[in-house]
Amino acid sequence: MTGMIPFYRPAIGDEEIAEVVKSLASGWLTSGPQVKRFEQAFAAYLDVRDAVAVSSATAGLHLALDGLGIGPGDEVITTDLTFTATAEVIRYVGAEPVFCDIDPATLNISPAAIEAKITPRTKAIIVVHFAGYVCEMDAIIGLARRNGLAIVEDAAHTLPASSNGVRVGGFETDAAVFSFYANKPITTGEGGMVVARDPGLVARMRVSRLHGIDRDTFDRYGSSGPVWQYDVVAPGYKYNMTDIAAAIGIRQLAKVDDFHAERLRAARLYDRHLEGLPLIRAPRPAEARDHSWHLYIIQLTKESRIDRDQLIMALFRAGIACSVHYTPLHRLSFWRRTYGLSPEDFPNAEKVFQNCISLPLFVGIKEEEIAHVADAIRRLTI
Ligand SMILES: *Cc1c(COP(=O)(O)O)cnc(C)c1O
Repeated sequence: MTGMIPFYRPAIGDEEIAEVVKSLASGWLTSGPQVKRFEQAFAAYLDVRDAVAVSSATAGLHLALDGLGIGPGDEVITTDLTFTATAEVIRYVGAEPVFCDIDPATLNISPAAIEAKITPRTKAIIVVHFAGYVCEMDAIIGLARRNGLAIVEDAAHTLPASSNGVRVGGFETDAAVFSFYANKPITTGEGGMVVARDPGLVARMRVSRLHGIDRDTFDRYGSSGPVWQYDVVAPGYKYNMTDIAAAIGIRQLAKVDDFHAERLRAARLYDRHLEGLPLIRAPRPAEARDHSWHLYIIQLTKESRIDRDQLIMALFRAGIACSVHYTPLHRLSFWRRTYGLSPEDFPNAEKVFQNCISLPLFVGIKEEEIAHVADAIRRLTI
């Protein structure tokens, strides 16, 4: 094996490059016809009515909470084991995050953990389909309805996973937010997409993503004469997607099923090559399509000869780049200090964190590379 096996490598082909060149040559660089095309193709792929393209998933999560009217005095329940963006957006709108421990079998927030944290001030839940494993949505939707809570899905990892034959984005929740960051299931460099079922929420998000400018007014004047009049109906943000990014996204989306098939193949190869080692293999749902396989996360067991940090270092020296997803929020100083979080409150997330490693997984990874990673882990842990 020559050279480093990277943790991740985006799959950008000639089609993406040609589409970007087309956008650049068209003279229309920021939000325009390519963004419209991308939104329509994305909505069609998920079989939903509306998709709103934004500059990042973080922006999309913020717009969703803002558009749902979550604000000061409200509590939003979310998971301790996630990227900081999931929780930071709760602060953007002035609400208070309330953190749940995870279910060790799935690494996801569980309906029981959510239920235990509900107070009269709880207004919403942000679930994260962690690593691409879809949460128990029937139960979560049921408890949200019983308690009058909104649900926002952080689906940054989850395109194109499904549950009961429905793709994430098509569930009966308030909003689902996808990320197109460089290492996400499809990429636009930076970017995100929000899907929502309530036309009012969709309209609010469309206005808020571009300075609160009332597009209908804009279009009304723009279509029949010189385009200069507009109204501002909300304070708004600068969260629009560029046409250059959308050009990449259109071509990436066309390959999403192929990408998924490759990730699934890689996950199955890891399952096979890692059999019998002192580790817990990546949690998997019964149905293969119910996981996007964005990440393949193993957890070392007590039988391993070396610990997690030592293994990452030794793999790196052997030319294999791994990562950790994530340092739980209870270990990050801002969240720990501000909310008085401690490891005892999150025993499952803490235990996973101490033992977990995310293995290289990307479109185009070869079986020999996967076998090489597994051999190195065998040599180092037994
Ligand atoms: C990547 C990620 C985000 C943020 O996505 P951006 O598009 O970079 O803003 C949010 N939540 C999770 C779980 C993520 O992995």
